[in-house]
Amino acid sequence: MKKKLAVHFTDSKKTNYAYERLLLCQHCGTYSIRMQDECEECGKTSRLTPIQQVAHAWSQRKGQSSLLFLGILLCLAIISAQTLPSLIGSIIGSIVLFGVAFSLQKQLARYERSVHFRRFLYAERGKIRLALMRELDEIAVDMKEGNPKTAYEKLREVSHFLNNDPIKRRKIACLNQFVLRSDMELELDTLVPSSYDYQFVEYLRKVAQVKRSLIKKKVLDYAVAYKNEILRHENGTEILANVAGAALRMKAYVDDYYEFILEFLEYLSKERLLRLAKLASTYRTEWAELYARTEALVQARYSFDPDFKGIFQRGSA
Ligand SMILES: [Zn+2]
Repeated sequence: MKKKLAVHFTDSKKTNYAYERLLLCQHCGTYSIRMQDECEECGKTSRLTPIQQVAHAWSQRKGQSSLLFLGILLCLAIISAQTLPSLIGSIIGSIVLFGVAFSLQKQLARYERSVHFRRFLYAERGKIRLALMRELDEIAVDMKEGNPKTAYEKLREVSHFLNNDPIKRRKIACLNQFVLRSDMELELDTLVPSSYDYQFVEYLRKVAQVKRSLIKKKVLDYAVAYKNEILRHENGTEILANVAGAALRMKAYVDDYYEFILEFLEYLSKERLLRLAKLASTYRTEWAELYARTEALVQARYSFDPDFKGIFQRGSA
C-alpha cells in the first residue's frame, strides 16, 4: 500500500461567483481560471485583469459609441436645417434629445452593464473553455508525475467551473493519497458522484472519522441510496454506522433518516450512542421505536456506565 502524504493545502480564495476567478491577460489575450499573479501563456505579471473589469470597459465603450452615433445624427439634423427657426429648433431639439439619451443611459447603466457582461461572457466562452482545457492537461501531467497536491489544488479551481463525475473522480484519487486531518479544508458534498464509486466511499470513510460535520443531506442520501453497495465494501458497516452517527447531529436528520439510523443503531460508537440516548429521551413519544431500541441497547451494553446514568427514566442506576 502506498504511503499517504502529509500535505497542507494552499488557501483557495473565496468568491461569490465563478466568473470572479477569471483573469484575462491583456498582453496575449489568454484567460486564466486560477487567481494567480502570472500569465501561464506569456509569463507577464502586470497585464492580468479580472474579467469584470474587462467587460466593464467593453460596456463603457459600447455606451459611448451609441452616444457618439446619436450625436452624429443630431449634428446632421442641425447642419441640414435650412432656415434660422428650423436651425434653432433642431439645436434645441438635439440638446434635449441628447440630454434625455445621456440621462437614460446613466439610469440604465447598471442593468445595461449586467446585460453586456452576460453577452461578453458568451462571446468569450471559447477562450474560457481553452483555459479550462489547458488546466486539465496540466492536471493530467501533475497526476502522472506524482504531484497529487498540485493536481488537487488545480482541480479545486477547475471545479468552480466544471464539476462533473470525471473531475470528482480525479479529486478523490488525489485526496485518497493524503493523510486527512480535521484542520484541513476538506470537501465532501461537492464530491458526491452520480453513481456508486468505491473510491468516494473510501474517502467518505476517512472523512467520517476526522470531520463528521461535513456529512450532510447529500451524503446521507447517497449512503441510503447505495447502502447495499457500501455494505459490500471492506468496512461497509463501519462506514454506514459512522454516517448514521453523523445524522444524529440534528433532529431534522433523525426525522428524515429514521429507518437508516434504526438499521445501524447497534453499530454506533459509544459517543454517538450517548448522543442518541440524550436526543431520543427528549423526543421519546415521537420516536417511540428508536427510544425503546436505544434504551434496550444501552441497558445491554452500558448499564453500569456513569455516562449514561439518569438519561432514561428506567435508567441504569
Ligand atoms: Zn499572457
